[in-house]
Amino acid sequence: MKSWLPIDSQSDFSIYNLPFGIFSTEKKSPRAGIAIGESIVDLDELAKLGAFDELNFDTSVLNQTVLNPFISLGKKITNGVRLSVQRMLCQEQSLLHQNNHCFTPQKDATMHLPVHIGDYTDFYASIDHATNVGKMFRDPANALLPNWKHIPVGYHGRASSIVLSGTPLKRPKGQVMPPEAEAPVFQASNRVDFELEMGMIIGKENGLGNTVSTEEASEYVFGYTLFNDWSARDIQKWEYVPLGPFLAKNFGSNMSAWIVTSEALAPFTLQGPEQIPAVLPYLEIEGKQNYDVNLDVYIEPKGGEKNLVSQSNFKYMYWSAQQMIAHHTVNGCNLRVGDMLASGTISGPDPKEFGSMLELAWAGKNPVKLSDGTERKFINDHDTVHIKGYAEKDGKRVGFGCVSCEILPAD
Ligand code: CA
Repeated sequence: MKSWLPIDSQSDFSIYNLPFGIFSTEKKSPRAGIAIGESIVDLDELAKLGAFDELNFDTSVLNQTVLNPFISLGKKITNGVRLSVQRMLCQEQSLLHQNNHCFTPQKDATMHLPVHIGDYTDFYASIDHATNVGKMFRDPANALLPNWKHIPVGYHGRASSIVLSGTPLKRPKGQVMPPEAEAPVFQASNRVDFELEMGMIIGKENGLGNTVSTEEASEYVFGYTLFNDWSARDIQKWEYVPLGPFLAKNFGSNMSAWIVTSEALAPFTLQGPEQIPAVLPYLEIEGKQNYDVNLDVYIEPKGGEKNLVSQSNFKYMYWSAQQMIAHHTVNGCNLRVGDMLASGTISGPDPKEFGSMLELAWAGKNPVKLSDGTERKFINDHDTVHIKGYAEKDGKRVGFGCVSCEILPAD
């Protein structure tokens, strides 16, 4: 497949990708777009030319501030639009080639949060991450808790503080219990950490009381983004007993601007790890459920250079998206369009593949050295953390762009 539009071979936004987002410019109100190379295809303008008439849907959904109404139309429409744009980008005589005003340079666009996220659930689905945390804080010989290989463990997070890439976040303040102190103190967190995650955007509702099987679950996934689920480890340690994460997690998470569809990721599936002991029947699934997506994390101190600190991969997930959805709905809990289901920190077996500072610096025992000679146990004020992700196979590259965030000092 080749486009008439010049696209760099290393671009995340190849002709095979075509992810969806919401953008605006000085002259254009927020609307739906598809990223291609260094440009954005303006789906609202294209719809006005009649490009999607054959799909027969209300194209006003493309002129909204979020993608939820568009996604709600189902994959037949959403992937129909994507394939239609793909065809037009390849055909010399297409409507798109003749209408330059349907393109906006990415550098001239402001990106917006692409979906209204009604609910956010965070899983804990990487076995290497869960094992590392267990080794650090519990019993190194029995690092995984007894439930871990039976349940895709998760908790309900907070959707209101999920912000777009590029939105800085303030170092949170809260209660921490210093070692050997008798009472907690109120202070700015000293242990602000990134969590390398992928976010799954739900594309179909199951309705309260209805369950979704692992076989049906793929229909419920619209696509994926990069996700940095910021954490304050010192606040977390004191507050999390007995009900789990709260203020250590909900001060902010960043997502990338473009939602890469599950259709675009289909060529990059691979077999996940063997699950022993066998899971309960409602979690059973066969075939290739994991994705081979390279994930890189960089720390950039203010005025300094980007330091690559982790190189992980989405393929390391123990629990697949289908199993997460089946588990989430097994009690009848209703998923809604735009909900975010995050993977949990994605670590690989090699120490270079750990997905958080907690693991990379092993709870502060092995500080990470940066190129400017400084060290990090956690994230400093004015450090910017960047996460990039891409899949590549047989000359096809499908990338996610970047999710970046600077940590600002506490008030
Ligand atoms: Ca998390």
